[in-house]
Amino acid sequence: MKFGGTSVATVDRIRNVARHVKREHDAGNQVAVIVSAMAGTTNQLVEWVREANPSFDRREYDAVVASGEQISAGLLALCLQGMGLKARSWQGWQIPIKTSAAHRSARIVDIDGQALRAQMDSGEVAVVTGFQGICPETQRIATLGRGGSDTSAVAIAIAVKADVCDIYTDVDGVYTTDPRLVPKAQRLKKVSFEEMLEMASSGSKVLQTRSVELAMVHDMKTRVLSSFVDPDKMPAVSIDTLEETGTLLCGEDEIVESQVVSGIAFAKDEAKITILGVADKPGVASRIFGPLADASINVDMIVQNVSADGKTTDMTFTVGASELPHTLEVLNAAKADIGEFELLSSDDVAKVSVIGVGMRSHAGVAAQMFKELSDKGINIIAISTSEIKISVLIDTDYAELAVRTLHTAFGLDGD
Ligand code: ADP
Ligand code: ASP
Ligand code: MG
Repeated sequence: MKFGGTSVATVDRIRNVARHVKREHDAGNQVAVIVSAMAGTTNQLVEWVREANPSFDRREYDAVVASGEQISAGLLALCLQGMGLKARSWQGWQIPIKTSAAHRSARIVDIDGQALRAQMDSGEVAVVTGFQGICPETQRIATLGRGGSDTSAVAIAIAVKADVCDIYTDVDGVYTTDPRLVPKAQRLKKVSFEEMLEMASSGSKVLQTRSVELAMVHDMKTRVLSSFVDPDKMPAVSIDTLEETGTLLCGEDEIVESQVVSGIAFAKDEAKITILGVADKPGVASRIFGPLADASINVDMIVQNVSADGKTTDMTFTVGASELPHTLEVLNAAKADIGEFELLSSDDVAKVSVIGVGMRSHAGVAAQMFKELSDKGINIIAISTSEIKISVLIDTDYAELAVRTLHTAFGLDGD
């Protein structure tokens, strides 16, 4: 069971979480609980890091920012003990959850589930800090990127050979789009791993992308469900009735009625960079994107224009908005290698994506999407596609209109 920030926002809510855990324990289920920091804590910690030193050392960032989960894990263990259960908290290094050395966005490389499993077998609830692990190379605490507790949960589930990984949050499942933006969004009873992966990586923050990837690769039964229901009114987990609550992630072949489009995702935290007048010759793209990769900057959409004069060309690409200053620095530093160019950048852009496995067998989805946007006067700056996704980059001001328009146009509105 994993509980996110709003679910553990106060001691009262942590007590509510403890009741969910007790329900499972009393039904004879063995439980490991993964917790996020109390809502707002991680943001506050990140702010303090930036205040202390804007060009911070990523290892010290991790030392500070990982601390939020230590608090909530301890408090939950205390609440559980107060209810008469045997429980203890575990930090990443104690298990250990081993990570890569990419501090601030480290990947889990290995978890030894034995100690946890032994404790669970003895009837003790294991409460584990999400979002953090220990990097053997640096011998330092490492964090898994924002929203990383989802990934901790799936990884722990795999390590202890759990039957189910339940991700409790403040919505009662995965919806056709963010229900906070579109009240007509509908809950999906099931969503395929492939679609969820595209939704998460296109901005639906209900699950961290890496957690979906792990669940898919290990075929871990994973659900998204609400912690804001009376713990006593929810049935204890039973493997036969998983589909009755929340949203279950599953293989594509387990979805009987698949829609052409099953979800709309959006990301407002995008930035666009245009490189003007770069030489149009082999090797230039690699001299531009190589240094960005070396700096661990994730590049998303890339558009290269046809050269008008046969000598120079323009290139536009997107990165996460928080990476924009760093990206500009890296590009300017690589100027000697890349050659002359001019830079334009803006973070007033958003990415809107339509997602659905049905696209594999349906033509015309892109055409319909572009027509709907054009009817609303929305200009498309860049386009990228995968087999089951079409993304467009547009002005941020139009993002909500675009999401609502596409949600209606592709028949996703509920009552
Ligand atoms: P937690 O703190 O529990 O990890 P998050 O805030 O990370 O919770 O994720 C839950 C939020 O994800 C919801 O409150 C909702 O606004 C947002 N969200 C975005 N897209 C979707 C979607 N397609 N379905 C459900 N929730 C979504
Ligand atoms: N507390 C971390 C964050 O806010 C991890 C998480 O909540 O999943 O990003
Ligand atoms: Mg989250």
